[in-house]
Amino acid sequence: MPDTLHRALRHHQQGQLDEAARLYHAVLAAQPGHLEALHLLGVVAHQKGDHARAVELIGRAVAIGPQAKGVTVGQPVGVGWGAASCMHCHQCLSGDQNLCAQNVPTIVGHKGGFADRLRVQWPWAIPLPEGLNKADAGPLLCGGTTVFGPLLVFGVKPTDRVGVVGIGGLGHLALKFAKAWGCEVTGFASTDAKADEARSFGAHHVVNRERKATFVISRARSISCL
Ligand SMILES: [Zn+2]
Repeated sequence: MPDTLHRALRHHQQGQLDEAARLYHAVLAAQPGHLEALHLLGVVAHQKGDHARAVELIGRAVAIGPQAKGVTVGQPVGVGWGAASCMHCHQCLSGDQNLCAQNVPTIVGHKGGFADRLRVQWPWAIPLPEGLNKADAGPLLCGGTTVFGPLLVFGVKPTDRVGVVGIGGLGHLALKFAKAWGCEVTGFASTDAKADEARSFGAHHVVNRERKATFVISRARSISCL
């Protein structure tokens, strides 16, 4: 199987994306959940402009079971990290179904968003508004929910002063959520470019490590949630 991966990498480096993707799929067929192949398939998908295919995915419901609720055939849906859980344990019944001991991951051991069809327990297929931009909505299913969760868990209020360390894939979403919620937001960036990004995302204050050696300490006692 390393040979197949190496061949895939060669095609990938030469820009032969379809052949590379075919070989990455072959690796996954032999070793479901092979992380490097999954990651590289995501890179191929991105290079091909197919932004909605990744570990998580956005698609349409093509069939529903007789007991399924809340989803109709043809409806746009998103599926995040989880695809099923037991639905009767304490975690499932208290809104922490992602922590269910029987949680079935969308991608680990499976093909996730790279499969042609995905079978999902209906509560895990999240209905999406028609016409929602897939490229915008896709990241919300992973990075988005990762940083949105703490705002709920820690009861962050619009009057809170929130600090976001790292303006990257997740941090920029955290910054936007906190800003939209009404919080006073400080972005902690590592470069001038990231500092500019933080400002463009609406940060009220930006601390740039390149400019300020004291970095986090410079905002001491001015942040209620970091
Ligand atoms: Zn459960």
